[in-house]
Amino acid sequence: MFFVNICVIITFLYLSGILAKFYRIRLPFPSLRVQAIGGLLFGLYGTVLMNYSFRINDTTIVDLRHLAVIMAAVYLGGLASVISAFIIAILRILMFGLTSSAIDAAFTIILLGLAGVYFAYTSWSRLTKIIMMNLMGMTMIFIVLLLNTTSMTTLMKVYPIQMSISFSGGIFIYLIAEFINRSNEMLFLLERRASTDHLTDLSNRRQFEQSLQSELQHARQCQQKLSLLAIDIDRFKKVNDTYGHSAGDAVLKQLGQLLVQHGRSTDLVSRNGGEEFAILLLDCGYHQSMAIAESVRKTVAKYLFTLPDGQTLKLTISIGVAVYPDHCDDIDDNDLFEQADRALYEAKNTGRNKVCSLPPRNIAVVNNGSL
Ligand code: GH3
Ligand code: MG
Ligand code: MG
Repeated sequence: MFFVNICVIITFLYLSGILAKFYRIRLPFPSLRVQAIGGLLFGLYGTVLMNYSFRINDTTIVDLRHLAVIMAAVYLGGLASVISAFIIAILRILMFGLTSSAIDAAFTIILLGLAGVYFAYTSWSRLTKIIMMNLMGMTMIFIVLLLNTTSMTTLMKVYPIQMSISFSGGIFIYLIAEFINRSNEMLFLLERRASTDHLTDLSNRRQFEQSLQSELQHARQCQQKLSLLAIDIDRFKKVNDTYGHSAGDAVLKQLGQLLVQHGRSTDLVSRNGGEEFAILLLDCGYHQSMAIAESVRKTVAKYLFTLPDGQTLKLTISIGVAVYPDHCDDIDDNDLFEQADRALYEAKNTGRNKVCSLPPRNIAVVNNGSL
């Protein structure tokens, strides 16, 4: 029975790991909403374990349901611990009747769930927390069994087995949970690395292209405007040549932060390579995007970039603006980017430190009153 309990917990841990991966949940201590849902699930897991319990007498059953509460506390947090404990306690009474043994068992698990709030947030390692909570749970279970058993012989036969499986199973479950957690973390990290620029922490070119494609689709469906600012630092090579590559890197990082701080929270800022950045302005028409671009240009021109040796430096940027649907072909997703790039080229060729856009192509759309 106890072995079946361990197998059931492992199955549930595996399923929880898949859910965590699917919903991108970082452990331990996710949001309270996730803790509440997780607590509910672990409560149900514990309840399933009660269906694979060992019967000591008519009203007393033993199983490893406390491990569900322990896992909820250690991997999810205090709220999950309390919720899982209450669910197990309530269902213990509903499923097996309101006997004194059931009340004692419900009381015990609730006490363990409440203690889980403390254990969850101590600075101990997760393994120590599991062992300590297991120790507490098994001690309380022993007292409850002593109070309710009619046969000491059965109790003395069953309890040592329960205790050894609870401790060895706890460690085994810990190893599996850590393995699942670590593989999820690795996946999240890989996904993040694949879409993020390591220097500025902005989206990289790949992520930018995906966002551009999906935002264009959204703009088409909702008949909204979408603007793209292609940004390039003027004479950046000189920064590298004069102050060194690490000074250039520091400038790129600070420019990335500046572009994010300057924009609206819905704007998508990316570093598309080298000293080239892009900003996607959602639901933003021609005049508004030209005004935003101009304000970005001015902000950067006024900003004092700090180099690693403490020196400060002023820089300028050139910006090419293209707007969907004014400047681009409605069928080709790359066209908006090409139009912004051509406008940027124009800005570079006509003196730098300026904002340019090409003449609108889709006059019919502009004249439709959708500008
Ligand atoms: P322009 O005004 O025409 O844009 O001139 P520019 O010097 O900015 O343009 P150019 O394309 O000639 O030079 C870009 C430089 O950016 C060259 C390269 O050394 C530098 N660069 C590209 N990526 C990085 C990077 O990750 N870190 C640093 N420090 N420099 C980079
Ligand atoms: Mg360039
Ligand atoms: Mg440049």
